[in-house]
Amino acid sequence: MTTQKGQIDIKTENIFPIIKKFLYSDHEIFLRELISNAVDATQKLKTLVSTGAFKGELGGLTIHVEVDKKNKTLTVRDRGLGMTGDEVKKYINQIAFSSAEEFVKKFKTKSEAEQHNIIGHFGLGFYSSFMVSEKVEIKTKTYKKGGATKPVRWECDGSPEYLLEDTEKEDRGTEIILHIDKENKEFLEDHKITELLNKYCKFLPVPIQFGMKTEYEPIEGKKDKDGNQETKEVKVPNIINNTHPLWKNKPAAATDEDYKNFYRELYPMTFEEPLFHIHLNVDYPFNLTGILYFPKVKKDYKLQRNKIQLYSNQVFVTDSVEGIVPEFLTLLHGVIDSPDIPLNVSRSYLQSDQSVKKISSYITRKVADKLSEIFKKDRKVFEDKWDDIKIFIEYGMVSEPKFYDKAEKFALLKNTEGKYFTFEEYKKHIETAQKDKENKLVYLYATNQEEQFSYIEAAKERGYDVLIMDGVLDSHFIQNIEQKFENSSFARVDSDSIEKLIKKEDEAPSKLDDKQKEQLKAMFERNINKEQFKVEFENLSESDMPATITQNEFMRRMKDMEAVGGGGMMMGMGGLPDMYDLIVNANNPLIGKLLVEEDEKNQDNLIKQVYDLARLSKNLLKGKELNDFVKRSVNIIE
Ligand code: ADP
Ligand code: MG
Repeated sequence: MTTQKGQIDIKTENIFPIIKKFLYSDHEIFLRELISNAVDATQKLKTLVSTGAFKGELGGLTIHVEVDKKNKTLTVRDRGLGMTGDEVKKYINQIAFSSAEEFVKKFKTKSEAEQHNIIGHFGLGFYSSFMVSEKVEIKTKTYKKGGATKPVRWECDGSPEYLLEDTEKEDRGTEIILHIDKENKEFLEDHKITELLNKYCKFLPVPIQFGMKTEYEPIEGKKDKDGNQETKEVKVPNIINNTHPLWKNKPAAATDEDYKNFYRELYPMTFEEPLFHIHLNVDYPFNLTGILYFPKVKKDYKLQRNKIQLYSNQVFVTDSVEGIVPEFLTLLHGVIDSPDIPLNVSRSYLQSDQSVKKISSYITRKVADKLSEIFKKDRKVFEDKWDDIKIFIEYGMVSEPKFYDKAEKFALLKNTEGKYFTFEEYKKHIETAQKDKENKLVYLYATNQEEQFSYIEAAKERGYDVLIMDGVLDSHFIQNIEQKFENSSFARVDSDSIEKLIKKEDEAPSKLDDKQKEQLKAMFERNINKEQFKVEFENLSESDMPATITQNEFMRRMKDMEAVGGGGMMMGMGGLPDMYDLIVNANNPLIGKLLVEEDEKNQDNLIKQVYDLARLSKNLLKGKELNDFVKRSVNIIE
């Protein structure tokens, strides 16, 4: 071949400036693209061997990545099938170019947000190298034998002009040499390239070498004076990838230890061990492999999201899998590898894509099946892990009806004594005691065992059971199951007096007449914060406290929702006020005493003491008021 110069076939306009300008934020993907091409070329050659089309020596197939700081070049070199001059013209000048052109066209019509989505996903391919280079060279030698198969060199400086000529090249395969431009000098730094290789290429199926690394090898028969083995420094190839990631194995062939090791490989910075794993493996009706892990979730669970890595044929694509796995499973860790997930489209399209929907429901089902299997096989293990996994399960049950249908058989409720029940078991457990006079089943729960201690005790004294619902998602979860459970309601133990929470019969007649109530009410209101506390009378037993504070279940749920959904939504900027009921026990002797007490000062002192005691047991007494209470109590003792 004589040296040829030519024009890359431009249909619209020069796309190179556009590639540079628009793709600036995500330009690092060029390396992924070049290495994927090198892997493809290597895999294709292997296929040719297996079909007998190539009979030569395969030799080493390691792909090399090299930085030359002096000459400002970054090179990706493979020993794949290479290209002939004609192939370069066809694949690089025409096909690759037209797909890049296609991409740019699509790209320009998208909104900025969507642009961001497609950059990382669309295989802009070979031409992405122009995002970081002032000149790109290709040297390639085909595996084919024969006259017109001399090695060639292609060169293009980012203008639509290219050059193609014969060249010298010993080895089969392709070398892509990027002359990195001024703005992208960072891609000449070893640490940057290491970072990118780790991100995108960690599990590619062909070994990738980035220079050499130092290892310490024991020197045979040599020990120092303390008897420690002496070692020597050796330089070994720095292979950055694991070509056989665990998810590609058959699930039956891997041990628990393998899964744990692989977790550490995926998240070297995480020290916690996963709770358990799920190995995904289907090839029909779509192809998908992967391993999902249930991690130990911290309180700030939102920070732990988006740890699932999505691969397409072992090439890292993204770690933002929203739309592909159901929302609740974005809390899981692990990898999903599927060539069937369309990557060159926007998120909104992904969510409506049929194969993605199938994948999503497949994953949901697998997760539910695995949980069910552990529950059935080893209830003890399941219970031990429950507190850690309940966040996933509750999240799933609240957000995915299909998951709910499976999970209602293994989801657990825990009571304040630390015992676990399935929904069905618990219903049986409380069925006789906790039905109110309308035959409605009342589930009592506490959200803080310490703070609601006296209320829990009051419920237990009446033979009731109290659930502990102190998880981050429990308030949502309660709303959800309350709707599903028939003829049932949930009430926090401190949301009303226990008598009212589970009403057994019509209210006992009051020992106080209306006039006395009026009188008492006025006395109380004189001494309490009327904006915050509403005085109510109730006929409890003599031994019950003279006054207790409750907070209406509905009001509190509204407040909880407000806290989760961002304040100020419902009642202007200030949000909902904290309102409570001060329940005065009409039957407590102390209250009766108030009516016969003549001295107003004594009345006030007594009421203040009763009011403060009630606030104290609800943890509402603080600061100066607490101090006043302590002083007053000391006076009383004296
Ligand atoms: P794609 O990989 O999607 O086909 P690219 O733009 O990345 O698109 O590459 C275009 C074409 O150039 C490839 O299909 C392949 O034929 C050829 N090519 C690129 N890199 C190499 C390589 N390292 N070895 C052999 N052929 C290559
Ligand atoms: Mg490619």
